[in-house]
Amino acid sequence: MRVTTAFNKLLAIVGASVTSVTFTPEGVVVGLRRRRRRPICPCGWKGRAVYDRSTRRWRHLDLASSKLFLEAEIRRLRCRRCDRVRTEAVPWARPSARHTRDFEDVVAWLCQHTDKTTVTKLLRTSWETVAGIVGRVVAEHLDTRRLESIDRIGVDEVSWRKGHRYLTVVADHDRDGAVIWAGEGRDHTMLEQFYDLLGPDGCTQLQAVSLDMGGAYKTATDNRAGHARQCVDPFHVIKLANEAIDKARRQAWNVERRANPAPKRPRGRPPKGSPPTPTKPRWVKHTRWALLKDPDAWNDNQLAVLDALRRERSVLYRCWQLKEGLRDLYRLRHEDAAVHLDWWLAWACRCRIPAFVTLSKTIRANRDRLLAAVELGLSNSKLEGLNSKIRLINHRGYGHHSAAALIAMIYLCCGGITVQLPTER
Ligand SMILES: [Zn+2]
Repeated sequence: MRVTTAFNKLLAIVGASVTSVTFTPEGVVVGLRRRRRRPICPCGWKGRAVYDRSTRRWRHLDLASSKLFLEAEIRRLRCRRCDRVRTEAVPWARPSARHTRDFEDVVAWLCQHTDKTTVTKLLRTSWETVAGIVGRVVAEHLDTRRLESIDRIGVDEVSWRKGHRYLTVVADHDRDGAVIWAGEGRDHTMLEQFYDLLGPDGCTQLQAVSLDMGGAYKTATDNRAGHARQCVDPFHVIKLANEAIDKARRQAWNVERRANPAPKRPRGRPPKGSPPTPTKPRWVKHTRWALLKDPDAWNDNQLAVLDALRRERSVLYRCWQLKEGLRDLYRLRHEDAAVHLDWWLAWACRCRIPAFVTLSKTIRANRDRLLAAVELGLSNSKLEGLNSKIRLINHRGYGHHSAAALIAMIYLCCGGITVQLPTER
């Protein structure tokens, strides 16, 4: 069998046949000849005349440990539909790519599943190349009809870089919390851009919008989709309660430290056999996870911590009761929610724990939006996890160099895109 025949069978490139195989220091270069005579623009328009010709190389999937490149003549044509000179489309690669479709699909599939180092080391590419590939794959796969007929959305901000750099992320509750839009920034103009994209008809169709307790997204929604029911995500409510506990815990720690200051340690190494220096305030630190975790997930140690707090009548025990009382709101039937919330508000505003008094004021201001979330059952657990998933994606890439690159990665991993591996086709 001739080597070109062998490569023809091995690579099975659609629309071209192998004419040469060269072994170079960079890897194996496979020369291709196109079967089609007339060049076709990426827009689909069939050209007649060729504007000019050049040779281009595409990186293909590796051949054992050698890199494999496809090389073919590529032509430019003056497209009447695009009204400019464009490079023709080839069946084995996306327009303007220097990697084949198979290679790019493998990159995208790996990016959905693993971190930057694994992808770049396994495929011997740079992260910048990967970012470009992800952008192209997302542009091809992202469903343009995803913004049609949307009933219930969730909006959230995600911090992606130090120094208050945020993204606004919009997810569809009815599509398992898939991300349908993301933009850089977190002020009301950002969300208004999304509503503009949706158009007046799309906005009219919106029934419910779940958001955080901040003012920016509320303003945008009031302006563009005033008729839609606004709900405050349970996730944000519990997050605020956890923050209040943390604040109270820090305060308790400071109070205790002032009341029982740790005795000053004498200079030098303590004599052998002397008892360890007592550090009493430290216990408050160890209470952190016991207070924040779901009681169902406690281990024995955390159970003991809570029990000790209860016996000492600690302020932290009351904090914990307040938080769980608030969580009960999402465990009750929605008919009982309003009564329960009012009871909780009365309790919290008289509790004399500053962090919880502040929280009760915030919650009172958002009472109706909280109850709307309970009534509509917009406590989509997938949406709650979205924030942490996006932060994980950002972390996997060790911080993305631009918001656009991160947004492409978010669409790829959370936008409901299925990438088929070349071996699955
Ligand atoms: Zn064209």
